[in-house]
Amino acid sequence: MEFKNKNVLITGGSRGIGRATAIAFAKKGANVAINYRSDDLAAKETLSLLKGRNHTLYKGDISEKHVSAELINDFIKKYNTLDILVNNAGIAIQHEIDKVDFNDWTDAWLKTINVNLLAVANICYWASKQMIKNEGGRIINVSSRGAFRGEPNMPAYGSSKAGLNSLSQSLAKSLAKHKIGVGVVAPGFTNTDMAVSTLTSKEKESLLDESPFKRMAEPDEVAHAILFLASEKSLYSSGTIIDVNGASYLRT
Ligand code: NAD
Repeated sequence: MEFKNKNVLITGGSRGIGRATAIAFAKKGANVAINYRSDDLAAKETLSLLKGRNHTLYKGDISEKHVSAELINDFIKKYNTLDILVNNAGIAIQHEIDKVDFNDWTDAWLKTINVNLLAVANICYWASKQMIKNEGGRIINVSSRGAFRGEPNMPAYGSSKAGLNSLSQSLAKSLAKHKIGVGVVAPGFTNTDMAVSTLTSKEKESLLDESPFKRMAEPDEVAHAILFLASEKSLYSSGTIIDVNGASYLRT
């Protein structure tokens, strides 16, 4: 897979799967722009890990409505065209229904849906305008195994990712006439700060046990699936959802 001089925007690229994806695209010759929310140090570290020179950082909280348009405008000012958009940024908040009060319940729903679903819809809106002008492009959205199997501790998270799958498939249909492919990668338990930092060792052990490989995914394995969906020959795979969950949850 070659991405020489392709212009790529990745949300949530300061760490984890976003960082691994940025590294993978840069290795294949792409110009990579990384959006992140707040951690300047981590974002600069990602930038320093990228091969090549034509890479940029964009700080901005994508859950703020105006950021989506600004992000795409600033990107186009620098790179002229947007070839590949990876909506990777996401949050996960614990809010089990029988353990939280109503304020925490509604707060978790609002925050999660804003970042994981509405922000993606808004960024897709502005990005697709540019891709239509450019007569083609790719959008890859990072969902989750939780969309299919349920997330009892984080119902808003599971719902947001199920919504993201549906959004992606709707856009795959409406944007096909513009040669824009829209695909989804749905990881299972992946070795990142989001997944690992809040777990007790007992919780981690039981999560590892879910996969017959008895391990979690590494971020670069998720990145590999993202690059596949962004590659030249994968346009006709538009609308698909690729599981990267180590056979821990098999959909029929
Ligand atoms: P992470 O917490 O390590 O990184 C998340 C990134 O998103 C960070 O760079 C953060 O700055 C950014 N971000 C969060 N909110 C933002 C906002 N409002 N505006 C801009 N940036 C924001 O997470 P990760 O594990 O690398 O997850 C990446 C994606 O993969 C997420 O969408 C997540 O839901 C999904 N995912 C992760 C796992 C896992 O086990 N790690 C499993 C399934 C799906």
